[in-house]
Amino acid sequence: MEIVVVPCLYDNYSYLIINGKEAAVVDPSEAWPVMKVAAEKGLTLVAALCTHHHHDHIGGLPDLLDEYKNLEIYGFHQDQKRIPLITRPVEDEARFSVCGLDVDVIHTPGHTSTHIVFAVEDHLFVGDTLFGAGCGRLFEGTAEQMVHSLDRILQCGKQSRIFFGHEYTEFNLRFAAQVDPVNPAIDERIASVRKMRNADQPSTPSTLEEELATNPFLRIEDGSIIDQLEREHNLDSTDRVTVFAALREQRNNFS
Ligand SMILES: [Zn+2]
Repeated sequence: MEIVVVPCLYDNYSYLIINGKEAAVVDPSEAWPVMKVAAEKGLTLVAALCTHHHHDHIGGLPDLLDEYKNLEIYGFHQDQKRIPLITRPVEDEARFSVCGLDVDVIHTPGHTSTHIVFAVEDHLFVGDTLFGAGCGRLFEGTAEQMVHSLDRILQCGKQSRIFFGHEYTEFNLRFAAQVDPVNPAIDERIASVRKMRNADQPSTPSTLEEELATNPFLRIEDGSIIDQLEREHNLDSTDRVTVFAALREQRNNFS
């Protein structure tokens, strides 16, 4: 298996999962950058995997269908109204096979109520649930749902590789440094991400281990993050959901 990162639009990432001469695309924001890579590598695109219905994740589907008539489109069964092009609706914990590879589905409500993550071996395609040093905004779900969704991702093991939907890592790390100021791993990651970005390299994928060390949304039990939040907000408790909600609100107002 080979994964190719395909930058799309302004800061989106689509991914090609390649096995032999077949490929599946994750979150095709637009068609032409995906078709360009497929043509260069002589690949046949057999499937599109859609993490959620936002247009910057599915905008390329109609043009891809024009080019690849047999393209199967996988998405959450409850997203069929919002992604009418889905041909293969999947449920939570479903397992299916594309390009000879097993794909597992994890329902991760929070950013949207119908968001899913695709796991291929230890590669997690997390869409807008988790980002480098951040997580998605809560457009449809609650803080409680998102905490549960992130916990399910964490169950996949520290060595999992995290392929996220947007290049937000550097900005997220600036926020992380503010809320978690005594964490040296954040300074180290800022330096390494700057190097990548200056060389025009994506900061995706990361590993869950790296996120556990630097992503404040996965560190909601950390004493210094909780202390910082208690100074900023009147927290009525320090349970994980309350801490997460305060952190998410502070991130929404961060600029
Ligand atoms: Zn989204």
